[in-house]
Amino acid sequence: MSFHGPEDSAKLRDALETRLERSESPVEEEALKTQMAAFDKFFGQKIDASYKIEIQFGPNRSTWKPFGGMMSIFLSGTQMHGGGDEKVYICPDDSCRGIVHPQDRFGGSVVCRKCNMTWPETKLVGELFFVLTPQHWAEVIEKWFMVLESKADIYLKYHRLDIRVHAEIEQEKQKGGEFLNKARNARGMHIYPLKNIIKDTSHGANLRERFLAFVRA
Ligand SMILES: [Zn+2]
Repeated sequence: MSFHGPEDSAKLRDALETRLERSESPVEEEALKTQMAAFDKFFGQKIDASYKIEIQFGPNRSTWKPFGGMMSIFLSGTQMHGGGDEKVYICPDDSCRGIVHPQDRFGGSVVCRKCNMTWPETKLVGELFFVLTPQHWAEVIEKWFMVLESKADIYLKYHRLDIRVHAEIEQEKQKGGEFLNKARNARGMHIYPLKNIIKDTSHGANLRERFLAFVRA
């Protein structure tokens, strides 16, 4: 498992520090110290994602051609009896596509909080299927990230035949059996945690561009 998103914030922090070291003006030094304190306060806060957007890609992932994938949304950190995260469903009305939480179920029906319609549980959408270019995948991720009020970690899962997964398997083989076992569960999944998304974009990085880089990585 690897964590994505360049740590732009660390670079900015270093730049402030360098300016402070070189500064010969007490007024500027004071201003820089204030900036650094505000910076540390902002990034020192713990950021918890409420949701998890998970996309399982098919085997033919490309950096420019359309390829298939399946998107699901989960509530973060709510462990169910089976051990997984609790799934969130999507309103079956194409013009609504509201988020339906597990607590919105009443018997076999659910009420969508967005369109206020009652739907039979069996009509709910659990997975969205797409065949898209990386650019359009980035748009879809951005769209659902906004629907989830910018409170989601993004998980990308790669097919076992994906060239990237192959490369990882080869690397592990060369390291020997112990590493192969250790890495087996982590293989083929890459995460862009919300805290990194916030760090990257708070310094002006474009959200869709960051998602595109993540999809192409
Ligand atoms: Zn709805």
